[in-house]
Amino acid sequence: MKQLRDLWILIWAWIHEWFKPCLQVIQIEGDTLPKKFGPHQLIQLIDDGDSWSAGFYCPCGCGDVLEIALLYGVKPRWELTIDHKGRPTLYPSVWRNTGCRSHFWIRQGRIQWCGAG
Ligand SMILES: [Zn+2]
Repeated sequence: MKQLRDLWILIWAWIHEWFKPCLQVIQIEGDTLPKKFGPHQLIQLIDDGDSWSAGFYCPCGCGDVLEIALLYGVKPRWELTIDHKGRPTLYPSVWRNTGCRSHFWIRQGRIQWCGAG
């Protein structure tokens, strides 16, 4: 019986991982973020065909909206790539030097936390 229970726990963990919401990219024309958007949306602002910036809620749950630059020539800037399912990958990692000081990567819509420091 124990083996069966272990197997069930494994399956449940797998299902849980599978259905964990991914970030989805929403592309918006303009240079300002919408007042409200979903916690699992990454807003890509596009003006005149250029990617300007991206905005999303801090994944730690502190409620802050993070806005990062995507435009060439701006420093610091991030590289946003979007896969065929609309999931964002950001390069390099996002490291907040204010507020909650979260440090994380976004890869294929998933948050990968970096260790403290
Ligand atoms: Zn935070």
